[in-house]
Amino acid sequence: MKKTIKDVNWEGKRAVMRCDFNVPLKEGAITDDTRIKAALPSIEYLLENGASIVLMSHLGRPKGKAVPEMSLAPVAARLSEYLGKEVKFVSSDVVVDDTVKAAAAELKAGEVMLIENVRYRSEEEKGDPEFARELASLGDIFVQEAFGTSHRAHASTTVIAEYIPAVSGFLIEKELKFLGDAVNDPVRPFAAIMGGAKVKDKIAVITSLLDKVDILIIGGGMAYTFFKAQGYSIGKSLLDEEGLGLAGDILKLAEEKGVNFLLPVDVVAADEFANDSPHDVYAVDSIPDNRMGLDIGPETIKLFTSTLKEAKTVVWNGPVGVFEMENFAVGTKAIAECLAELDATTVIGGGDSAAAVAQFGLADKMTHISTGGGASLEFLEGRELPGIAVIEDK
Ligand code: ADP
Ligand code: MG
Repeated sequence: MKKTIKDVNWEGKRAVMRCDFNVPLKEGAITDDTRIKAALPSIEYLLENGASIVLMSHLGRPKGKAVPEMSLAPVAARLSEYLGKEVKFVSSDVVVDDTVKAAAAELKAGEVMLIENVRYRSEEEKGDPEFARELASLGDIFVQEAFGTSHRAHASTTVIAEYIPAVSGFLIEKELKFLGDAVNDPVRPFAAIMGGAKVKDKIAVITSLLDKVDILIIGGGMAYTFFKAQGYSIGKSLLDEEGLGLAGDILKLAEEKGVNFLLPVDVVAADEFANDSPHDVYAVDSIPDNRMGLDIGPETIKLFTSTLKEAKTVVWNGPVGVFEMENFAVGTKAIAECLAELDATTVIGGGDSAAAVAQFGLADKMTHISTGGGASLEFLEGRELPGIAVIEDK
């Protein structure tokens, strides 16, 4: 078990807390503040327990220089509103300078400040020890609360913990509980649904999940690479040439391991990659040459959902169709509705899968929606994430 902010006596201590405030901005205004709201419970807990806080985050890709459009200033303003107290924004083009250090040193218990986008410095993504030491000098204890970047050994996500002790915030605690239980101690039957566009991106996860799951369901764009590996013609559907051999290997491995491995049996294929393109349902062995598969078909929906009904733990990563287009969102919606009604632990990983579930208004029906796309994939793969590894054990 990893230490959390509840395992620390915060009286008189200053937390340096790495959050994920990488919010979407349009003309300087925040268009979705979910990530800001998500950090509030940990911030409030620290402030109520006698700590002061220096908050930090990245935003966008400023590539190692100060880019005013990617300043965290709007985040400080929004945080102030939610917390009902001022979050001092102490801006510096070099993130940490003498003014920033002095402001941190002057913080009193219950006070909170935010420093500038850590990616204004190229040293951040290089995991530079000197920059990490500067960040560490701003407080006494590092609080890891940014799951989405915890698979990167950056200065503010990992290397900082070489200088001050690290504990997790509530968001990280939740990620470790649900993703960790699913991977290490799932209530069975354990099913995984893998979708999305590319086999190559998810091959390592699929391979590793084959050792753990009872049921593995493949949907989405990546299914066509499997069909191709099985010798079917797939028309103009997505083909991941590089992943073709790997798909063949997986088919063999699944059989060896006795996993209930399900591919679609029918698909919805269209002339073009467009919502209003003419489309029909085809069995997977008769996809026409001039069409592309964009969703799973009705027989597949029946097969997948009836199989999922047995499951007690489900991990879902990747939409099973082009859910961004209404005509091809049917399969993804059916899966989401099925999971919403299951009496099982349901864990959603992946940015697009989370967006799909939210789009259908079913987010609060899932047990856990992971906040980290790449990080949750690496976690499911069984890899140790550097930003998690540095958190002290209980
Ligand atoms: P996540 O972010 O949940 O990990 P991915 O990024 O791997 O998911 O994949 C999501 C994308 O896959 C979506 O944009 C979706 O439109 C696309 N996709 C799903 N099915 C198909 C398909 N049959 N053809 C092309 N793209 C697809
Ligand atoms: Mg994605």
